[in-house]
Amino acid sequence: MIELTDVTKVYPGDVHALAGVNLTIRAGDLVAVVGPSGSGKSTMLHMLGTLDRPTSGRVVVDGHDVSRLSDRQLSALRASRIGFVFQQFHLAAGVPVLDNVADGLLYAGVPMKERRRRAAAALQRVGLGHRLDHEPHELSGGEKQRVAIARAVVGGPALLLADEPTGNLDSASGQGVMAVLRELRSAGTTVVVITHDRELAAGLDRQVHVRDGKVVAEQAAGVAR
Ligand code: ADP
Repeated sequence: MIELTDVTKVYPGDVHALAGVNLTIRAGDLVAVVGPSGSGKSTMLHMLGTLDRPTSGRVVVDGHDVSRLSDRQLSALRASRIGFVFQQFHLAAGVPVLDNVADGLLYAGVPMKERRRRAAAALQRVGLGHRLDHEPHELSGGEKQRVAIARAVVGGPALLLADEPTGNLDSASGQGVMAVLRELRSAGTTVVVITHDRELAAGLDRQVHVRDGKVVAEQAAGVAR
């Protein structure tokens, strides 16, 4: 699904946010990228999600070499294949949950009735089928994040990237969100979760530990390798 080869990212001011990352993520993986603040996790997520291009090295997402695609082609790849979830839920205030999710399909050229039908199904998947008419301010933090997940997956992406998805949640709500991500993976979506929470990461099948812009260790099912 994703292949990073010798990827570096240097920001202005000579900040080496990624210093030669090699990483393969296979279709159907559920991976945690773990590391302290400033270690390069968000920068890595930007590479995985084709939101930014590397300074050097190769990024292949879903069979496409990112350096060979125009900005327009990259946007199309993102829109059709990748869903994003962030720590701040980024829901539209004053807009019912159903439409917050349906709007995730605005650019896919789907008629409104069908957008709403698919949005209701996505909300059902995240356990919020009974909250379609609520507005974001009427939901708990965990529910808001589940709405954001429904919006990210309503278009059926192959890959879901989540940046600190439980960072604003209490631990029970965080576990609810992780359960939803596990279910999505079971249904075939590749899921990458960025977190500084080692305990949360330990609950996933594979952990990639990042420090100073490098992958320093990998673990699968609790076994170091
Ligand atoms: P993390 O997500 O692990 O906290 P980041 O990827 O956000 O780490 O940041 C890695 C390093 O790159 C940090 O030193 C950060 O200050 C720096 N950095 C991140 N984004 C930028 C930017 N747009 N311009 C300059 N430096 C940046």
